[in-house]
Amino acid sequence: HRTREKRWITENAWYVRNKAGVPIYIEGTIQDATERVEGLAAVEQQANTDQLTGAASRFHFLNTLNAITRDANGACVLFIVDLDKFKDVNDALGHGAGDAVLSTVAQRLRKLAGPAATVARLGGDEFAIITPGASASMQADMKCADIVRAMREPIEIEGHNAIVGASVGVAIFPAHAATTEELLNNADIALYHVKTNGRNNACIFDHAMKLRLQQHKALEADLRSAIPADALELYYQPIVAAKTGSVLGYEALMRWNHPRRGFLPPDQFIGIAEDAGLMTELGNWAIRRACQQAVALPGHISIAVNVSPSQFRSSGIVEQVKRALGDTGLNASRLVLEVTENVLMTSQSIATRVMDDLTALGVKLALDDFGTGYSSLSYLQRYAFSKVKIDRSFVAGIESKPANTAIIRAIIRLAADLGMDVVAEGIESEHQAALLRAEGCELLQGYLFGRPRPFVDICADLALHNLQTCMPQRPLGTLQDAPEERTVHKTL
Ligand code: C2E
Ligand code: MG
Ligand code: MG
Repeated sequence: HRTREKRWITENAWYVRNKAGVPIYIEGTIQDATERVEGLAAVEQQANTDQLTGAASRFHFLNTLNAITRDANGACVLFIVDLDKFKDVNDALGHGAGDAVLSTVAQRLRKLAGPAATVARLGGDEFAIITPGASASMQADMKCADIVRAMREPIEIEGHNAIVGASVGVAIFPAHAATTEELLNNADIALYHVKTNGRNNACIFDHAMKLRLQQHKALEADLRSAIPADALELYYQPIVAAKTGSVLGYEALMRWNHPRRGFLPPDQFIGIAEDAGLMTELGNWAIRRACQQAVALPGHISIAVNVSPSQFRSSGIVEQVKRALGDTGLNASRLVLEVTENVLMTSQSIATRVMDDLTALGVKLALDDFGTGYSSLSYLQRYAFSKVKIDRSFVAGIESKPANTAIIRAIIRLAADLGMDVVAEGIESEHQAALLRAEGCELLQGYLFGRPRPFVDICADLALHNLQTCMPQRPLGTLQDAPEERTVHKTL
C-alpha cells in the first residue's frame, strides 16, 4: 500500500472474449480484505488460546493430539496435571487470587515443558502437557518429578503463600493407546490412581491400573444400593478395663455383606465411598444403627462409632447425631464418636465448632489412630477430646522398640493430666497387655479380648434376651453359627 502498510486483498478475474470466443483481455476486481483476514487470525488465535492463562486451549490441545495420533510415526507423552488445593485457595482468597494461581501454574508448566511441548488448560484447574517425539517417553519419569515439585512451590498472592500442589497422570502414545480418546482416558486413569493414593504425586499408566479401576467402579455401583438393600452391618469389638478385663464398651465397625463377595471389611469400600461421595450417607447410617442397637445393651456400656473426615465436615453431622439420639432414646453420654487427626487439619475453626456442638449434645469424642499422622500432642490440649486411642501400629512395636514405650508413656501421662481416657488399640498378646497395664493404660482393645463380631453375638456374650426388636433382619438362631468374626467369602 502507498502508506507502506501491509494490506490483504482478494482478487477476482475473468477472461473477456471476442465473438469467436477467443480471450482478448482479463477483467477483474480487487477488494481490500485486510480486516477479514486479520479478523480470522484473531478468531483462530482466540480459539487456540486459553484467555486467562495464555496456555493453549482445549480445542488446540485436541487438534495437536489428533495430529500426533493420526500420524503413522506419531509419538508423545501426555501429562494431565490436576491441582490439588485450588478450590481451597479460591474459596479462601477469592477468584482474583484463583486466577493468579492458574496463570502462575501455566507459566511454570510452560517453562518446564520446553519449546517443543504444548501446554494447555483443559478447563477449571486441569492442565495438560503434550511432549512430542519417541524420546519423550524416556524422560517421562523425570518430568513427572519436576512437575510435582514445581507445583508444590508456594505461589505468592496478595501477601499469602499459597501451596496448591498437583496430581499428575501420564499416558504414552503409542505404547498405551491407539487413539486420542484412549490416550486421554488412560492418562485420566493414572491421574485417578494418584488422587486415590494421597494426591501430590505423579503416576504413569499401566494396564493393571485399568483393571483395578474397573473393579472399583463395579464396587461403587454395588455400594450405591448397599443401604437400600440392607447389606451393611455393624460388627462390635469390645473395649475392656485393663485391670479387670470387664467390657466397658464396644467399637462399631462397618461390614458390607456384598452379594457376591461376602463380608467385606471397611478398607475395601470406605475409600470408594469417599470418592463416590457416599461416605456421609454410610456414616450417618452407622451412627443411627449403632444408637438403635446400643439402647438394647446395659446402661454402663458405651458405643464408639467412627466418623470419617468428610462426614465430619458435612454440614449435617450435629443434626444427624441429635436426631439419632432423639429417635432411639440413647443417652448421649453413651455415644463416643471417633475421629482421626485428618479431621483437625482441614479447618481449625470448623473443627472446633463442630466438636463444641457435639460436646454440647453430651456425646464424647475420641481421637482415633493416635501415633499415626501428625500426632501433634497439641491437638490433645486444643480440642475437647475425652478419649485418645493409641494406634495399633504403635502398640505392635512395643515389645521390640523402647522408643514406643517411652512415647506411649508420655501420651498416657499427658492424657491423665488433661483428664482424658486412653485406649490402646490392637492388643494381640498377653505380653502387650501386661506392658500397657504396667504403663497405666486403663482401657484395652484388640483381638486378645475379642474380634469384631455381629451384634447378636455380643448380645449373647452379655447374656441378653428379648432382643428381637432391635435386630429384625437376623433371627437369634444364627448365634451359634458365628462364634468368631465371619470370614466366609461366598463365591459365585
Ligand atoms: P479403626 O477405627 O482404627 O478400627 C480398628 C481396626 O483395627 C478395625 O479394623 C479392627 O478390626 C482392627 N483391629 C482391632 N483389634 C485388632 C488387633 O488386635 N489386631 C489387628 N491386626 N487389628 C485389630 P476394621 O474393622 O477393618 O476397620 C478399619 C478402619 O475402617 C477403622 O479403623 C475405621 O477407621 C474404619 N471404619 C470402620 N467402620 C467405620 C465406620 O462405620 N465409619 C467410618 N467412617 N469408618 C469406619
Ligand atoms: Mg476407630
Ligand atoms: Mg483406630
